[in-house]
Amino acid sequence: MNDGMTRAQQILQSTFGYDNFRHSQAAVIEQLIDGNDAFVLMPTGGGKSLCYQVPALMLNGVAIIVSPLIALMQDQVDALRQLGVSAAFLNSSLTAGEANEIEQRLVNSQIDLLYVAPERLLNPRMLALLERCELSLFAIDEAHCVSQWGHDFRVEYQQLKILHERFPQTPRIALTATADQRTRDEIVSQLQLEQAQVFINSFDRPNITYAISEGNNPKQRLWRFISDNHPNDAGIVYCLSRKKVEAIADWLSDQGRVALPYHAGLSQQVRQRNQQRFLREEGVIIVATIAFGMGIDKPDVRFVAHLSLPKSIEAYYQETGRAGRDGEPASAWMAYGLQDVLTLRQFMQDSTADEAHKRVEHQKLESMLGLCEVISCRRHALLEYFEEESAAACGNCDNCLRPPEKWDGTVAAQKALSTAYRSGQRFGVNYLIDILLGKSEGRVQQNGHDQLSTFGVGTELAQSEWRTVFRQLIALGYITIDSEGFGALRITEKCRPLLRGEQTLDLRKQTKEEKPTRDRKQKNTVRPQDEPLWEALRALRTELAAEFGVPPYVIFHDATLQEMIRIRPNKAAELRQISGVGEQKLQRYGQQFIAEIGKFPLSELLDNRLSDTVNETLMAYQNGSSVEEIARQRETQPSTVYSHLADAIGVGLLEVLEVTRLPSREYDQIVLMIESMAGEENGRLKPVFEAFDEQYDYGVLKCVQASL
Ligand SMILES: [Zn+2]
Repeated sequence: MNDGMTRAQQILQSTFGYDNFRHSQAAVIEQLIDGNDAFVLMPTGGGKSLCYQVPALMLNGVAIIVSPLIALMQDQVDALRQLGVSAAFLNSSLTAGEANEIEQRLVNSQIDLLYVAPERLLNPRMLALLERCELSLFAIDEAHCVSQWGHDFRVEYQQLKILHERFPQTPRIALTATADQRTRDEIVSQLQLEQAQVFINSFDRPNITYAISEGNNPKQRLWRFISDNHPNDAGIVYCLSRKKVEAIADWLSDQGRVALPYHAGLSQQVRQRNQQRFLREEGVIIVATIAFGMGIDKPDVRFVAHLSLPKSIEAYYQETGRAGRDGEPASAWMAYGLQDVLTLRQFMQDSTADEAHKRVEHQKLESMLGLCEVISCRRHALLEYFEEESAAACGNCDNCLRPPEKWDGTVAAQKALSTAYRSGQRFGVNYLIDILLGKSEGRVQQNGHDQLSTFGVGTELAQSEWRTVFRQLIALGYITIDSEGFGALRITEKCRPLLRGEQTLDLRKQTKEEKPTRDRKQKNTVRPQDEPLWEALRALRTELAAEFGVPPYVIFHDATLQEMIRIRPNKAAELRQISGVGEQKLQRYGQQFIAEIGKFPLSELLDNRLSDTVNETLMAYQNGSSVEEIARQRETQPSTVYSHLADAIGVGLLEVLEVTRLPSREYDQIVLMIESMAGEENGRLKPVFEAFDEQYDYGVLKCVQASL
């Protein structure tokens, strides 16, 4: 390692509290400290900001971070200050006096990192000010905003090439968490980064479980998803319209969750307040239009749910990427149905954009629909879109965990398509389904469509099943929506081989209502015996966060608290070893955390690697409950409780006679019997149980066996 990188490693440890660089962080930092440019594509949660923060602390002068996210600058700067770093921001939220003071400190070289909004940076006065300063580097965050094809396009971003022209000696780094090839090319050319070394990290977010669920009643399904998997977790729910946002936020509140709306129709003040509560309180759900969340820096968002279909895979990836930035398990869940497809298709067709733009939007929507309908691994399909190779099955998406059933939908598709064709391609889905099901009331009869050859030919499927057939036909491009025809369905060229019988079509079977199963629950990362300490440390964190006026995760991330619980450090030197504990934090509140940990000593009995359910029993046993009482409390059988205790006996944590209350003579007899039957019966207890005329509980026998 050269001197520069040794120093980088020291800063990583002493300031940020981490032992190792991740992904390509080290290589990126090396480029910058050597005075070169870099272009970094790194997934959310990959540690993008360290790529410029570490060199900013190593190089002389101030690092200028360009970010479009004014609302977040305060938090980013607060987090750096907690680490003892001299950081500041300049944006429209400051008074003239405050801005002046920061500019003064800037000129006096008292600031290491300065966050600036692009419009502010491009201001001639600001540029002139920078010419009077020593600059270490420019970091252009959220660089995909430069792309006029993207959903976050900012016109000021395209003018940022001026930085290269005005400050040719200052190294630049552009960063983004999402970019397909087209966007990458645009970033390089718009920002004149042709000389930059490009670092493409894997876009995979292995800790996120992807699920896209189809069918009716998305609201109920959303609630089932949240209550089964994330009963106390913070999350984001995306909806398409403001009205829907309000309705869902109210509804979730009625279910007992703290759910706050966020959309452009609310006042700046209300939005600000709701966002602050989301960041600073635990377990808040934000219900938002896509206006919310770009660059949200909250690491412990445990789920992102979509009640509407994003317009592109980039948007889907970016929005779901806000879950699990701390690397702990998180979910990306989406409800998807026929109406979404109809709405988006219509939306695209009615768009007033120019043809070239429309074509790109259209292709992006096609890819998104493809991801929804894919029968194989979602992660594989997602990464493939970003041109990244991956295993064929990830084992952590809905299609891998519960493979969808396929069926030969050729005949059904033919019936649906010819019904649309024969009725003149003037009607919507519900009308066509009425014809297929042979419902002759009302308009069908008036129009004489009860005379069509396809009238009543579809009774083998229920109405909801026909809706899934139409959804897939639209998603797969066999049907388009007539832009002038008020939602009328038209068949496309693609239908010909299918209607002629030259092609077959596999369709995805309608998923039955998902049953909540235990294995789908998020694994609880905290052991039952650690829960009191976990709660205490979280409370301490909240208290300190309020004192310093920062969100709780700025004090310590969940993962850091969890490591404290595992290791239970009792002196500063031990706490120092924990990932996420840097010098500044150790000094500021290390003692308070050590003191809190000291209040919750772990008994010898509970200091084990046995399963959670065994430990729940052991906790009750330690509190003096009898086996029968524990069985009642835990709604199980005494023999199950005994078998838990047997596990503890087996590893020498409990004394067998104490647990079973057997007189030692009886114990000896049972031991003899077990040993005499050991050979042929291979450790099975049934013959022992029978030999004693069922006098002893199976669980008691298990305890004796475990003691041998
Ligand atoms: Zn998968």
